[in-house]
Amino acid sequence: MHRFLDLQLLNARDEAELTEAFLRVLRSGWFVLGPEVEAFEQEFAKACRVDHAVGVGNGLDALSLILKAYCQLGRLAKGAEVILPDNTFVATALAVNEAGCVPVLVEPEEHSFLIDPQRVEAAIGPNTGAIIAVHLYGRLADMDRLRTVADKHNLLLIEDAAQAHGAFDTSGRSVGALGDAASFSFFPVKNLGALGDAGAVTSDDPQLAEAVRCLRNYGSSEKYVHTVKGVNSRLDELQAAMLRVKLRRLDDDITARRTLAQRYLAEISNPLIELPQVGKPSTSHAWHLFVVRCAARDALQAHLQACGIPTLIHYPVPIHRQAAYKELSGQTFPITEQQAGEILSLPLYPEMPEALVEAVIEACNRFTGHVAAAKPKESSCL
Ligand SMILES: *Cc1c(COP(=O)(O)O)cnc(C)c1O
Repeated sequence: MHRFLDLQLLNARDEAELTEAFLRVLRSGWFVLGPEVEAFEQEFAKACRVDHAVGVGNGLDALSLILKAYCQLGRLAKGAEVILPDNTFVATALAVNEAGCVPVLVEPEEHSFLIDPQRVEAAIGPNTGAIIAVHLYGRLADMDRLRTVADKHNLLLIEDAAQAHGAFDTSGRSVGALGDAASFSFFPVKNLGALGDAGAVTSDDPQLAEAVRCLRNYGSSEKYVHTVKGVNSRLDELQAAMLRVKLRRLDDDITARRTLAQRYLAEISNPLIELPQVGKPSTSHAWHLFVVRCAARDALQAHLQACGIPTLIHYPVPIHRQAAYKELSGQTFPITEQQAGEILSLPLYPEMPEALVEAVIEACNRFTGHVAAAKPKESSCL
């Protein structure tokens, strides 16, 4: 059985350099907030074409620290409402609660799966303070329209860029530079993945960057001097050293993802399967996930499974349906709910074996809408 994502294969490409970086940190005896983190922050800021990057513990903290920092700077009211899409990973909403703010969910657009600027505007009320745009599956949300809405209502516009490392808009601006601030995750399976948990905040705003830098380290900019009640959420030296090695591959990896996505788009052809949109320009999609849509999704997943093709669902349960968010369970989000029942993520990653690529295409094209009632061995794909 193939893997949905073969991290061993991806990391094996850099084994010598990762090992060398590990030994460098091991022998330095310096493990938290040191030269590797500083160097990675500079390199990542450059890659995103922003002035500042601040390494933190993970993507959830990156987002909550942005919100906390804005509260502290007086640019976001404590307890403010923050608008975000219902169809995102739960961390987007958790970050809002963690910062003492209130998540307000909106539905995505029907076919792009991205946060809908029109619905965002309709959800704005007197207590709204910020909008979080999630670049879901690696495709940039419509930041121009969201910026217009945000400016009109004097709101902060924040990117949840956890899935979109390597995406660029029409004018060549990078993800991470498209809002007031952006949060990144370097969880191992992301487009840029560490060998553990890691994250970063990017921004052109020196005040925001400084506030996050202080918050991540117990609210301290100077040892034993604590100006605010901060947290411990630092990127460590080992992960920073691993990320520096892996960052060098990011552009090539994203190109490989785009090439593979183009191939799926050209060669998967089945009226039962709706293919994802590319977006404009094509660089605005970093193809973290290739998500198709199918009314008979469970049958498609079972059929692919029988053909030896692993798939996943991102995400099967919308936020308002999670037990953790029972306060939102009275709301109805029909578009999100229908999508959650129909979406399926196909394997797509750099260095994906050609045999698997071909098997995915062939199995999708052979899907007839149901799983043959045969024993797995004789299933419809063989
Ligand atoms: C992965 C992810 C996060 C959380 O990142 P962690 O590093 O796992 O905390 C947040 N938002 C989105 C959209 C993600 O995909």
